[in-house]
Amino acid sequence: MPRLAARWLLAAWFFVTAAFADAHIFVYHRFGDNRHPSTSTALDELRREFDYFKTHGYQVVPLSRLVAALKKGENIPDNWVVLTIDDSYRSFYEKGLPIFVEYGYPFTLFVYTKATEAGYGDFMSWKQVNEAKKHGELGFHSHSHPHMVSKSDAFLQEDFQKGLALMRKRTGERPRYFAYPYGEYDARVRRIAESFGFDAICNQNVGAVSRESSRFDLDRIALTGRATLADKLRIRYLSARWLAPEKWPEKGVLTDVHIRLKPETKDQKGWLYLTDYGWQRVSVKGAQVRCRLDKPLRNRRSRLILKLQKDKINTKILVKP
Ligand SMILES: [Zn+2]
Repeated sequence: MPRLAARWLLAAWFFVTAAFADAHIFVYHRFGDNRHPSTSTALDELRREFDYFKTHGYQVVPLSRLVAALKKGENIPDNWVVLTIDDSYRSFYEKGLPIFVEYGYPFTLFVYTKATEAGYGDFMSWKQVNEAKKHGELGFHSHSHPHMVSKSDAFLQEDFQKGLALMRKRTGERPRYFAYPYGEYDARVRRIAESFGFDAICNQNVGAVSRESSRFDLDRIALTGRATLADKLRIRYLSARWLAPEKWPEKGVLTDVHIRLKPETKDQKGWLYLTDYGWQRVSVKGAQVRCRLDKPLRNRRSRLILKLQKDKINTKILVKP
């Protein structure tokens, strides 16, 4: 068979068989840094992931493109992938960036401004941030990287103001995107972040992005260590409203779970995950999930995940104030 025809056939085969399922935003931290295995992505692993996107018909698009589509209420193509990097570690500049450039993959770099301004050893300099900017977009990751849920309104306001002023001074632009430090937030923190007029806000909850996603609460999936990329790409967006718990429960004991789903959601069985406790069976009745638990939260950051139809996911994060 002529080579070109073979290629076309292969492409068509992937098109038919690839299980595309909503867009996905991934988050990286460090690159090729074996001092921190839990937050670092090995360079051969990064290439393996990038090759996977390439050979399986995924299109790596800038965050701005996804946000523009969400703003217009357009359909989000199932094969879109957005790549983000938190913390602006030097290992991104030195080891990760050349590979992004080689593949021509755009990215959004969420800058931790205090670390860069103070010249902390592990972090990029402003010169490096500006160099990286030529190949991607910049976002804001807070000034002092605090556990935001436990900070006062005044502290948070000042942290945003300081960091955003520095970004403008050192890079000449005000970032349009924000990512919570440690992925930690609640309704109050989100309100304050939103008041700074970002185009989009990223969390770090497992989930996918569809046209129904809020651009002020975009799920991002961490890609560190040896990630099972194919499984992560199968995740689909589940529209769900968490009526309970709304936030970290009093006395730290989770008792009530009440989730409202879209009215057309049929009665079915699903799964509910809680950090430290794992998965349990739950029932959807009348487009709602209600259950009573008695679970002391052992972690200062716990996640509840509702999963329906194998791979439709919605996550609620609970952070101790
Ligand atoms: Zn961070």
